[in-house]
Amino acid sequence: MKACIVAVGSEMLTPFRVDTNSLVITERLNAVGYDVRLKAVAADHVEELARVIEGAMGWADLIVITGGLGPTEDDITRDAVARVLDVPLDVDEAIVTGIQERFARRGMTMPENNRRQAMVPRGATVLENRNGSAPGLWLERGATSLVLLPGPPREMTPMLDAVIHDRLAVRSRGSGLFRRVLKLTGRTESDVDARAQPVYSKWTTEQVPIATTILAVSGQIELHLTADAPDCQSGEAALDAAVRQLEAILGDVIYSTEGRPLEAVVGDLLRERKLTVALAESCSGGLLASRLTDIPGSSDYVERGVVCYSNRAKVELAGVPEAMIAEHGAVSEPVARALAQGIRERSRTDVGIGVTGIAGPGGGTPQKPVGLVCVGVAVEDDVWVRTFQFVGGRELVKYQSATAALNMLRLLLLKGPR
Ligand code: ATP
Ligand code: MG
Repeated sequence: MKACIVAVGSEMLTPFRVDTNSLVITERLNAVGYDVRLKAVAADHVEELARVIEGAMGWADLIVITGGLGPTEDDITRDAVARVLDVPLDVDEAIVTGIQERFARRGMTMPENNRRQAMVPRGATVLENRNGSAPGLWLERGATSLVLLPGPPREMTPMLDAVIHDRLAVRSRGSGLFRRVLKLTGRTESDVDARAQPVYSKWTTEQVPIATTILAVSGQIELHLTADAPDCQSGEAALDAAVRQLEAILGDVIYSTEGRPLEAVVGDLLRERKLTVALAESCSGGLLASRLTDIPGSSDYVERGVVCYSNRAKVELAGVPEAMIAEHGAVSEPVARALAQGIRERSRTDVGIGVTGIAGPGGGTPQKPVGLVCVGVAVEDDVWVRTFQFVGGRELVKYQSATAALNMLRLLLLKGPR
C-alpha cells in the first residue's frame, strides 16, 4: 500500500523550521504496511497544496496531510481538500460547540474566526482532538483515503495513533514494514557495497522481500534493511537471516546490527570486561571523550581525558619525550604510541588512547598531508598503532579520528592484542 505525506506550513519552507511530523508519520505507517513513496512540504497557499493532493489522488492508497487546520486565513488545508474533491464546506455545529466549551473552560469566549475550524468538507468524518481546538478529518474518495491532522506535534501524534489503531491497522491485518539498521566502519562505501550487493540483491525476490539501502554517514556506513512481511514474526525472522548472511561476509566490520552508536558498543565491551580508559587527544580536541561520555553510565569506564594540543602539553600531560617529538614530529606513530602508554600509566587505567593528526585546513606538508592521523591504543602492556589518511574538512577529520580510535579499541577488545 502506497502513502503520500504532505506537511503544510510556509514556515517549513524557510531555513528556520523543518518538518519533523512526517518522520513520526512514516514510522507509524510503516508499522502497518504502508510504504511512503512521496513526501511534500507545501506553503500555506491553496493552489499548490490542491495540486499536490490532486497528483497523489492518482496513485496513493493513503494521503496524510498535517498542518494548516488552524483558525486563521492562512490555514488552507480544508479549502484545498474541498476543492480537489469538489465538495462544499459545511459548518459542523457540534464542532463549534466543542470549541466554545474549550474556551469557556479557560474563562474565555471563542473568537469568531475559530468557526473556520468547524468547516468540514461534505462527507468527511471528524476526528476528535483532545489536545487542541482543531479537529482532524478522515475522507475517502475512490481507492484513496485522506487523513487531515493538526500541525503541532503534540496534537498530531495522539490523533495519528488513534487513526492507525481504529482505521489502518485493521486493513493491514498485522502486515508491515520491519526495519534493521546495520552500522559499519573501517571500510569504504564502495567496498562494502561490492561485497554486500550480490547477497542483498537476491532478497528482493524472496517470499518476504527485503529492500536494502546503503548510506555513508560521517565516514561510517549504514545498511538499512526493510522487510515487507505479512506479520511481525516472519518479518523479524527474515531480517535475522539476512543479518546473519551479511555478518558472514562482512564480519567484524559490522559494529552494530541494531543501529547503535559505536561509542555505546565500545562502552558495553569496556563495562563487560571491567576495564577503564584514559585519553590523550591532540587533533580530536576532546571529541573522543565527548562521544564516549555521550553514553549514559559511561562513568563506569571513562577515567579521564586530556587535550594535549601543544607539544608542551604532550610532554607535561602524557609524558611524551621531547626528543621523540623533535625526531619524528608530533604527528607520528611513535608519538601516538607514547601518548597512549603515557596517559594509561599516569591515569592508572587498563586502557590508554592517544590521537595525533593534522585536522587542517592548514598545517599539511607533502610528507604529512591534511587528514593524516596516528592513533595508538594501549591495553595492558600491548600497544596497537595505526596511521590513517582521512579526507574531508576539519570537522570530519576530527570525527573520523575519534571513530577510528573507538573502532581500534573495539577490535582489540573483541580479538585480544595484535
Ligand atoms: P493546526 O492544524 O493545528 O492549526 P497549523 O499548521 O495551523 O496547525 P501552526 O500554528 O502553523 O499550526 O503551527 C503550530 C506549531 O506546529 C508550530 O510550532 C509549527 O512549527 C508546528 N508544526 C506544524 N507542522 C509541523 C510539522 N510538519 N513538523 C513539525 N512541526 C510542525
Ligand atoms: Mg501552519
